[in-house]
Amino acid sequence: MTIGTGDRLGVATPGHIRAIKKFQVHPALAQQSVRENAQAGRSFAQVIQDAAWAVFQENYQEGYGADADHLKSLQEVKEALDAGVSMVTLDLSDKLNPEAFKESKELIDRKFKEKIDEDDAKVIFHLFLDKEFVLKGPEGEFSICFDEESVKRSTLFFYKALDFIEEVYELIRSHTGNRPLVDFEISMDETPFLTSPENHFFFALELSHRGVHIQSFAPRFVGEFQKGIDFRGDREAFCRQFYHHVLIAQDYGNYKISIHSGSDKFSLFSDMRRLSKGFLHLKTAGTSWLEAMRFIALGNPPLYREMHSFALSRFKEASELSHVTSDLSRIPNLEGLSDGELPPLLDQEDFRQLLHITYGYLLNAKDKAGNNIFKDRLYQTLIQYEEDYWFVLEKHLGKYLNLLGVKRKSKGDDEK
Ligand code: ZN
Repeated sequence: MTIGTGDRLGVATPGHIRAIKKFQVHPALAQQSVRENAQAGRSFAQVIQDAAWAVFQENYQEGYGADADHLKSLQEVKEALDAGVSMVTLDLSDKLNPEAFKESKELIDRKFKEKIDEDDAKVIFHLFLDKEFVLKGPEGEFSICFDEESVKRSTLFFYKALDFIEEVYELIRSHTGNRPLVDFEISMDETPFLTSPENHFFFALELSHRGVHIQSFAPRFVGEFQKGIDFRGDREAFCRQFYHHVLIAQDYGNYKISIHSGSDKFSLFSDMRRLSKGFLHLKTAGTSWLEAMRFIALGNPPLYREMHSFALSRFKEASELSHVTSDLSRIPNLEGLSDGELPPLLDQEDFRQLLHITYGYLLNAKDKAGNNIFKDRLYQTLIQYEEDYWFVLEKHLGKYLNLLGVKRKSKGDDEK
């Protein structure tokens, strides 16, 4: 398995490396999305540089990746490749056509005829129609079938996205020349609809038919993968779907299933471990930011109080962009709390979500003269406590890797 350890502030990576060093896992130490970079005022080049400095500092010699996450356009892919990333995660949210599963059969028939080339249609029917695809694994088997209507709907759902993927794939290949190919991930995790195993299967077979190889795929799962807190939803339903996705990925493309918003999904880690058999990529980022805020609460309580009230004032706006279920009424008024009572608040889900979704607002807040209100003091405090911060991150990430069943490098190196 592999793990992406996003570092939004560019100061957490030494802690990540200290954990990773002890395990047999390949990390993407530099992992940021376009959106995260916009909120933190960073570029892919800076993200890569920050990770590289941490690698030198920790004398880490085992290789790591740099993942440009949630790219949505050719231009963004190009910029990321120019900056030197080793992994491209392409987000299909804008390219899929969910109407294809809602429109009437008549309309679908008409659109299929209009939009899909006759020869292509023949090939697609030949690939899918009236076949039973049986997938087998240690936890049982399942099968997938397509009738004419579902072939048409799936085609209309995916065809623009598939054409776009081919374009990006060509761009990556032309860009990297003789260098080893960049890892290519496709993500659908931020679509407003589930990725069913049928959708995934159709997609996987089409990709391989088009000669596109990917290293990982991020479906949107059942239940809720909210940022920075544990999974909410039907664990059994998740496990069933996850298992199906893993079998499809293994059998029809030999790629990994990628879990986004993997921070603190503790209740699922052992299921993922059991069902994925190592065909897993886990992305985390939010957790390092929240641990940074814990150190602000610890080391600079007045700053924490200021940031907290600013975050509250932006909560409504921020919650419209991110899916969260925080209840502000469960957040106590900080005026009644002593400084010592602040750090443990970071264990409460409502606090975590509040600070999670407002990080961009906090980092970008400027006073009338255009100076950062919080950002500079935030970095100063973190640098002052950097060894403690890294220690906590090391423990935290080590806990993930243990639960995920990643092997340790040497036997005597057990968790203290
Ligand atoms: Zn994602």
